[in-house]
Amino acid sequence: MEDILRQGLAELGLAAGEEQIGAMAAYGRWMLAANETTNLTAITEPEAAARLHFLDSAALLTVADFAGKDVVDVGSGAGFPGVPLRILRPDMRLTCLDSVGKKMDLVREGCLAVGLGDVTCLWGRAEEMGQLRERFDIAVSRAVAELDMLAELCLPLVRPGGLFLAMKKPDCDDEAARGTFAVKALGGQVRQIRRYTVPGTDTVHAVVVIEKVRTTPAQYPRRWAQIKKKPLRG
Ligand code: SAM
Repeated sequence: MEDILRQGLAELGLAAGEEQIGAMAAYGRWMLAANETTNLTAITEPEAAARLHFLDSAALLTVADFAGKDVVDVGSGAGFPGVPLRILRPDMRLTCLDSVGKKMDLVREGCLAVGLGDVTCLWGRAEEMGQLRERFDIAVSRAVAELDMLAELCLPLVRPGGLFLAMKKPDCDDEAARGTFAVKALGGQVRQIRRYTVPGTDTVHAVVVIEKVRTTPAQYPRRWAQIKKKPLRG
């Protein structure tokens, strides 16, 4: 894993010391071991995990400046993209949030095992986190929901002036267009869609970059049943 990470990060133009490469590889090995008893990831080969979990997550650092930022990873699962970002940017503060408590217990354990004792792992639904409203500089999220619904989970957590980075498949133009109404209603504005190739693969992914331009109206987020039944669409 270490060689793939070293080379891939260099390809992304990201500086990383041996300690950081080692922490990523250790977290990856811990995750694959935990995956044998708990369903955390469908990717079970260390090489594929290095590329499709760690390098894919790290690519967000080419899109925004995370230095010194308060970041929330919504629907973090096994800790992606949040944990690799925190390893590469030790001065950012990371909160991982997931509706499955077992996953957050494992991520907390994995973080402690690689010396990331300051990562907050929260068990709960993003749309029920009123106490975290507009608390974060950046929200990140990968593989959780379509943008029109995802925006209602993530944008209320971001302070005005902050960013919401939604990791998507490359053919996300229609999804982004469908999500524009929700993004606007929740106080955001789509700034751009950035595409990148995951180093060492032919896989192209995209990041929808959304700026929080005004505070989210108090009626949002709604309960999940309502978000799902009636996503915000024009
Ligand atoms: N982001 C990780 C990744 O890319 O590897 C995990 C993706 S997994 C497909 C989606 C995760 O989102 C699951 O762990 C699920 O429990 C979580 N999730 C779904 N809806 C959520 C919500 N409303 N609030 C918090 N977590 C949620």
